[in-house]
Amino acid sequence: MPSSLSDALTNSSVSLDFLKQDDWITSGKMGSREAVLVFRTNILNPKTRKTLSEKSSAQTLSDPKDIDEETPASCEKTEPEEKTSTSSATCSNEALKEPAQRKIYFLRNNQNCDKSDKSKFLSPFKKLMNQYSSSDTSISSEGEEPARSSNENKSRVLKTNQNAINISIAESSSKESGYESIKPDKSNSNADTSEEDPDPEATSEDDDEIGVNMPAFKLKITYKFHQTETKLLRKLFTVHGLTETQGETNFNLLWTGVHMKLDILRNLAPYQRVNHFPRSYELTRKDRLYKNIERMQHLRGMKHFDIVPQSFVLPLEARDLMVAHNKHRGPWIVKPAASSRGRGIFIVNSPDQIPQDEQVLVSKYIVDPLCIDGHKCDLRVYVLVTSFDPLIIYLYEEGIVRLATVRYDRHADNLWNPCMHLCNYSINKYHSDYIRSSDAQVEDVGHKWTLSALLRHLKYQGCDTHQLMLNIEDLIIKAVLACAQTIISACRMFVPNGNNCFELYGFDILIDNSLKPWLLEINLSPSMGVDSPLDTKVKSCLMADLLTCVGIPAYSPEMRSHYDQKWSRFRSSSCQRQATVPPPSSSQKSSKKSKKKGAAAHVNLLTGEEQRILRNARHQYSRRGGFVRIFPTDDTMQRYGNFLDSANGIPISTPTVQSQTFQTPILQHNYNQMLHFNLYCQDGRLSKDDNTEENRIEQYERALETDSEIPFVKKPAMEKCEEEGRRLRKVMLKKISAGSELTQFQARQTFSLYLESVMRRLTEDPKDSHEKIILKFLNKFGGGVKPPVLFRNMQNLKVASKARSAMVAKLLGDFLENYKRDTESYVDSFDHFGMIPSSAYNQFLMHAQESDLEAVLTLHTNVTGIMPFLYNRCGLSVPPTPPIPSGLHGFLRALPSMVSASGTARELSKYDGYFKSYDKDKIFL
Ligand code: ADP
Repeated sequence: MPSSLSDALTNSSVSLDFLKQDDWITSGKMGSREAVLVFRTNILNPKTRKTLSEKSSAQTLSDPKDIDEETPASCEKTEPEEKTSTSSATCSNEALKEPAQRKIYFLRNNQNCDKSDKSKFLSPFKKLMNQYSSSDTSISSEGEEPARSSNENKSRVLKTNQNAINISIAESSSKESGYESIKPDKSNSNADTSEEDPDPEATSEDDDEIGVNMPAFKLKITYKFHQTETKLLRKLFTVHGLTETQGETNFNLLWTGVHMKLDILRNLAPYQRVNHFPRSYELTRKDRLYKNIERMQHLRGMKHFDIVPQSFVLPLEARDLMVAHNKHRGPWIVKPAASSRGRGIFIVNSPDQIPQDEQVLVSKYIVDPLCIDGHKCDLRVYVLVTSFDPLIIYLYEEGIVRLATVRYDRHADNLWNPCMHLCNYSINKYHSDYIRSSDAQVEDVGHKWTLSALLRHLKYQGCDTHQLMLNIEDLIIKAVLACAQTIISACRMFVPNGNNCFELYGFDILIDNSLKPWLLEINLSPSMGVDSPLDTKVKSCLMADLLTCVGIPAYSPEMRSHYDQKWSRFRSSSCQRQATVPPPSSSQKSSKKSKKKGAAAHVNLLTGEEQRILRNARHQYSRRGGFVRIFPTDDTMQRYGNFLDSANGIPISTPTVQSQTFQTPILQHNYNQMLHFNLYCQDGRLSKDDNTEENRIEQYERALETDSEIPFVKKPAMEKCEEEGRRLRKVMLKKISAGSELTQFQARQTFSLYLESVMRRLTEDPKDSHEKIILKFLNKFGGGVKPPVLFRNMQNLKVASKARSAMVAKLLGDFLENYKRDTESYVDSFDHFGMIPSSAYNQFLMHAQESDLEAVLTLHTNVTGIMPFLYNRCGLSVPPTPPIPSGLHGFLRALPSMVSASGTARELSKYDGYFKSYDKDKIFL
């Protein structure tokens, strides 16, 4: 093994001559420990990539002497003891401020590279669903203009370093979550407000253009997905040359859709990055978040933390809710404590309409929301925390405004209508009036706007958008402060290196008509699914900027294995680790020195760890792209200093916990103060940087610029041949009549494709709907899909047909999401005797229309007398197969009677009760 970093680099087998480091590496020269990868959206565009590749072949490849000539520091020196390198920060600034395609050097694709065929990792069911699904949307390169000249790009530099975008990302729609130290439970997969998307389509037409010429590929930088699959991210990684690893620990970047396992956290090497902090459910669980903020209201005063609607956790606080209700009448919005995407949410006028036996969060309903053209809207903003101690928070310059499809009306008669009162895309997309903006540059059309478009719109109307954004920044900082204490102590216990964790949170904010922002919830793993060019533009820029800002170290495999060895030595010699304190020795010596001088000492009096923090904060800031740092800024200590412990700078949210709780046996520090001092008031003078209030607000108001048109086309549905479908249907019906059966997997495949067709009809043509039948089926079947607004008696409520269809389609969509996930576990690995061969059956499924699917399901049920699409073949208490009427939609009509009613009757009577009282209670909000 190499004995030092310099040896590691010298001995590296990696050929670096392909590299023009300031294009794809920043913050330090290749081989230095600050060097990190750069991510840009322009290479997501296959055409741009091709152009660049052609250009590069005509140019001389970069001179090897461009590659790091500095001898990297010896490995004996620990990371924190390195001197602050301002030159690399400058270099990074330069690199990032250049137009993205200024000089990008590509080699021709290396034929020898082991391009992984990702489609082979897809289960047959997923493949089939991907081929089949016609509702899938994507962005294609059709009509894409080549990226513009570098001069034209300069405007973009002010904002982010992104430009042309062209990816093929399916809109996706499900989530999973879990907790560290809590076993992820499938049945309780909503345990957090994660919106993580298992992406239905993991491949695309240009997947072969893998970034084999990128530094990351040569350096064998790897990523690992865990309980998540986001096409946007996969694409970004792939084109930048990162490869996927299946290994448990040998990743450079771990991206999980759930909280981190403590074991993984404990063993992270300094170069490894993970996308969550431990215990961040303190922020992302609705009930935890509210409790943390409520504690701050008691401790610091309501006026400082009046940022969330008054809420109660039921059933525990049912009495308090009644008291509050008697004081200020409802309505109240009821949310399952741990769920997302509008699932299970409903609004009541009075607490006695709330079921008593479930854990729910009941919040004061804000009846006077900000409306755009009469439609209620809310905001999704993206917040990046790269460190909790010191606290470093960025807010992405662009966010998304979600509008409800139905015009807002305060009348209590309308409380049932989620398409009027809830702004979730996952609900409103099922409404037939939902409009998607079809042009990325048009940001104020349809039911999804950008934040900057909203700000410009409000400004035009004379609103004080400056103050609005300051209030939003304030709300974000306070929410993080309220939850930070627990997270910091978890980091100290479980995270070995200061840079290991980062987290992107999705903040949902409702603005009322006095322009006061209210925090509704914070999402773990905010959805990166896209359904429009606008979505794609915002989310691609966001993710590329996030990865660059966070910084994936550009270490060679040799350097990494050197670190691994070093860290395993350190780990084995250290029983109880002090997180954020890397291998001891001289950092401790200097800490003593700093103790004498105080935390706010000059740079050269800082401890090794403090120097690392400061250097890192500077580098990170220089790579921030479109991220706006909102903590620290020049006045954050003045504004929030009171909420921090005076000795150690930790945000204190419990009255009993004093600073000594956080005193480590090794050193007492105040990183927040140190950072603020060194960034903003060194030598006693307030240093000016460009992070001023004015600059920040200006940045939020500017449109996210891209310099090429972003075509968004609906991915063409798989060409289905009706005739072939009919022919194959005949073949299948013949086989079934002759005694062949469907396997459970085939039956479930058929059933989900059939329900998908039904769902599409509900959304596209509300008149031609079967809502009642579907509702009856879902109500009886249960399976975690509960009617959010209890609309069993909806027909009596004279609910508008479009909204009713949207609600039923949404429920069916939720059902299908779970159903498809479960179907994965039935995959056939071989053809069973007496069953229909899978290859022939897949052919049929590929071409089958709804009526073909229905015919097969009907005949199979009639002939076999079993319902493998609903019940296990040898399951207990399976109800008898009902007679299935012949003719169109006969199967659908019989569907509810295929489910036994046991176990659901109680639920339904509860909902009936709700509606009775609801009908009586016609009050105005
Ligand atoms: P979810 O995690 O399921 O999306 P949210 O808390 O974000 O739950 O709420 C969903 C929607 O409900 C929001 O988009 C918002 O429009 C509406 N909403 C939530 N809480 C309130 C409230 N207190 N007052 C008014 N509307 C609310």
